[in-house]
Amino acid sequence: MSDDGLPPLREVIATHGLAAKKSLGQNFLFDLNLTRRIARAAGDLKDVTVVEIGPGPGGLTRALLMEGAARVIAVERDERTLPALAEIAAAYPGRLEVISADALEVDWVNVISGPAKIVANLPYNVATALLLGWIGGEVWPPWFSSLTLMFQKEVAERIVAKPGTEHYGRLSIISQWRCVATKLFDVNRSAFTPPPKITSSIVHLVPRAVCEPVCELRNLQRVTAAGFGQRRKMLRSSLKAVFERPEEVLEGLGLEPQKRAEELSVADFARLAQKL
Ligand code: SAM
Repeated sequence: MSDDGLPPLREVIATHGLAAKKSLGQNFLFDLNLTRRIARAAGDLKDVTVVEIGPGPGGLTRALLMEGAARVIAVERDERTLPALAEIAAAYPGRLEVISADALEVDWVNVISGPAKIVANLPYNVATALLLGWIGGEVWPPWFSSLTLMFQKEVAERIVAKPGTEHYGRLSIISQWRCVATKLFDVNRSAFTPPPKITSSIVHLVPRAVCEPVCELRNLQRVTAAGFGQRRKMLRSSLKAVFERPEEVLEGLGLEPQKRAEELSVADFARLAQKL
């Protein structure tokens, strides 16, 4: 038995025949000390609904409940996991609701009411799409107060990357314009069953109340797509895709037209988006 009176996760997997499926990005965490550390990284959970994507056999779900989450809504696509998750729900009456669905299809605003945080060890094949779904919406501020998410390390580095660095790009700009994004810690591949090919990292994102400089999100997406679509080119050339006279626009903002996209800050891109 584990601290929560439920069977160890290896036993849960064996009892319910949960052989990991690669197509669903299944890399499970069995160490409750590690999943509790991830749960704690999300801060106080006592007065919020925690939304978890992909509970699988429930390692992180159990940690969230042990760390005091008032309520957990867990969205899982793999129906094989439902009996194992029902056992956790029975051990924590009224605190765990499991939604059997594809998280990419959920209409969050209609499902979640009241303060909420998202905490998940994301399936790597849809991790970026889920993140962009949450932070790339037209309505802002969003329905959640923070995101504490496990990504492949390379994706985590793209989210928090600063200008002039290798990983800086469109994902960094959208993430950092909308949120304060921090990489918290790495998780070695050996912590997972089966182990993925590379290291993973936990990222914490807190939505900004106001995203400044203020601009239209879709315009920010257009200028970053143009700039980073031709990453090696000077902006006076790459931004021709969105401005008739990019040189004039850049100079008007005090930016050198010879610069490349990776040399501009998030604020520079937002100011360019204002010009569209
Ligand atoms: N939370 C568990 C843990 O930490 O051990 C499992 C994490 S595993 C990396 C990702 C989980 O997401 C799997 O349980 C998988 O079945 C589920 N999943 C994959 N695609 C999904 C989707 N589109 N919607 C909801 N769940 C999904």
